[in-house]
Amino acid sequence: MTMARIVGIDLGTTNSLVAYMDKGTPRVIAGRNERNMVPSVVAMTDNGLIVGDPAKEHLTRNPARTVYSVKRFMGKSLEDVQGELTYFPYTLTEQGGVIRFKLGEKTYSPPQISAMILKELKHRAETHLGESITKAVITVPAYFNDSQRQATKDAGMIAGLEVLRIINEPTAASLAYGLQQKTQGTIAVYDLGGGTFDISILKLKNGIFEVLATNGDTHLGGDDFDRLIADLFLEEIRERHGLDLHAYPDHMQAVRLEAERTKIRLSDVLKTTATLDLPDGKGRFTRELTRDQIESMTMGLIERTLAPCRKALKDAELTPDRIDEVVLVGGSTRMPLVRQRVQELFGKIPHCELNPDEVVALGAAVQADILSGGTTDMLLLDVTPLSLGIETMGGVMSSVIRRNTTIPAGAKEMFTTYVDGQTGVDIHILQGERELAKDNRSLARFRLKVPPLPAGVPRIEVTFLIDANGILNVLAKDMRTGQSQSIEVKPSYGLSDSEVEQMIEDSFKFAADDVSARKLIEARLDAGAMITTTEKSLLDGGHLIASDNIATTRTALAALATAKDGTDPRAIRARMADLEQAAKPLTVALLNDSLTKGLQGKKVSEVT
Ligand code: AMP
Repeated sequence: MTMARIVGIDLGTTNSLVAYMDKGTPRVIAGRNERNMVPSVVAMTDNGLIVGDPAKEHLTRNPARTVYSVKRFMGKSLEDVQGELTYFPYTLTEQGGVIRFKLGEKTYSPPQISAMILKELKHRAETHLGESITKAVITVPAYFNDSQRQATKDAGMIAGLEVLRIINEPTAASLAYGLQQKTQGTIAVYDLGGGTFDISILKLKNGIFEVLATNGDTHLGGDDFDRLIADLFLEEIRERHGLDLHAYPDHMQAVRLEAERTKIRLSDVLKTTATLDLPDGKGRFTRELTRDQIESMTMGLIERTLAPCRKALKDAELTPDRIDEVVLVGGSTRMPLVRQRVQELFGKIPHCELNPDEVVALGAAVQADILSGGTTDMLLLDVTPLSLGIETMGGVMSSVIRRNTTIPAGAKEMFTTYVDGQTGVDIHILQGERELAKDNRSLARFRLKVPPLPAGVPRIEVTFLIDANGILNVLAKDMRTGQSQSIEVKPSYGLSDSEVEQMIEDSFKFAADDVSARKLIEARLDAGAMITTTEKSLLDGGHLIASDNIATTRTALAALATAKDGTDPRAIRARMADLEQAAKPLTVALLNDSLTKGLQGKKVSEVT
């Protein structure tokens, strides 16, 4: 039996693509007009909603009813995007904390809009492959948080696609170049698209990609280059023809498109001529432009991408010479000057053999193929390499997020106190695979205040969240008072590959010893608690039972105290069972006494 086919989807800010694995080679699926990309644009027309190329034509004609760049709004609230709104002509509303686009009478959430783009891609894949497509891998930027990823999954679901995995775009680009086949290395993925710039530094180790750092500029891309060239044209049209095209929306759009075409041609040739038809019988505007000229115009914008690159390197604690591979993504990396500057910064020739517009979708198809079992070598992606947890009573490590969990990830655990009247709990965050806290790596610690209460009564919820960059946020909350305290750490800081390896190796080597040490600690803790409560019960209820019952209980208590000082957890557990048996008359008497006093109800004769 073969598994249903899984496609790979690059759901982009400006353009989206779908790819699949064709006999071992990833391929992007073309549409009717042989164009591989579906513009990520959705427009409401009198005949209903339209998507992609036809919708793009409505951008100038009907801007208020045409949504583009929906990706910028995924998983966000209206408050999150206040800064963005100046860039967009849409009418936005909010419902239950989720943004909605108003298109005519109806409103649509970002996942609903994205789902229309996904449906178009799904349809394209079904037409090309002649089979129904229900499963996909979708890529997102490495910096996407949990709710942005969730919104992307929701979009898939609305489109009738089961999203088997959300993977990071830089990881996908690396997969497209087969970099996972190397055993290790650091990779810089430089992604300059139409409207956004992202730099990601990844670490590859045994087929596992970890995001070390991300940076970028959410409003920098090819559109800015086009705008500079368009402004030059507009200025010269005004000078030469006395015409201000701002009053002619259709012509403004034509200027923008010609500016982009001119830019694209100059990536291949050294000189070209732009031509534009002018309104009002003013004839034609022509302008010769050289690559040198466009390079000196756009140099400043290209330089603006380099500062985030340096920042990301610094965050990853790496120097450019420590980067083994550089991957170029996004149409704007076809510009020779961009390539040159990236090469100069990292001191190596970047990968650009694949189409930079398609490389993310191709990588998504590679990941899809791995998931469907097409590629035999097992591969884990974007995972936390070591377990993360906290120290609990007796110096034991309690894992909250296990090693090799796909990130971003989150987990919650409930903890309590072991001592009566404790006024604070220490949250000591640990990393590693060993059973005892002292054998693991200490990442951070903080203290949460709690009101003094009997042991075991406070309920402290500890939440671990690792974001896609591997940054860990730990929050401890007293469920009774609502008081909370949190801290943020980067678990991979200051840890070399060999140290990670050593930590994992040690966990195997010492596994048996560790488990028995942990068992002993836990048995001692439980024994201690049992001794304390039994002594208290004797004080409270000694008068309720026969004196030989008291004697037997005391003997069992002493035996347990001796066992507790020993080193055999099984002996401790056995003495605990003895004490439980010996103290039964006391337990029953106390229970009956409290029932009589409290409820004057039925007596119980046996406690099980
Ligand atoms: P993307 O968002 O990755 O599809 O990138 C689209 C951007 O790449 C647009 O701004 C295009 O104008 C730009 N682009 C595409 N091809 C070229 C090229 N040959 N030279 C320069 N820019 C290009």
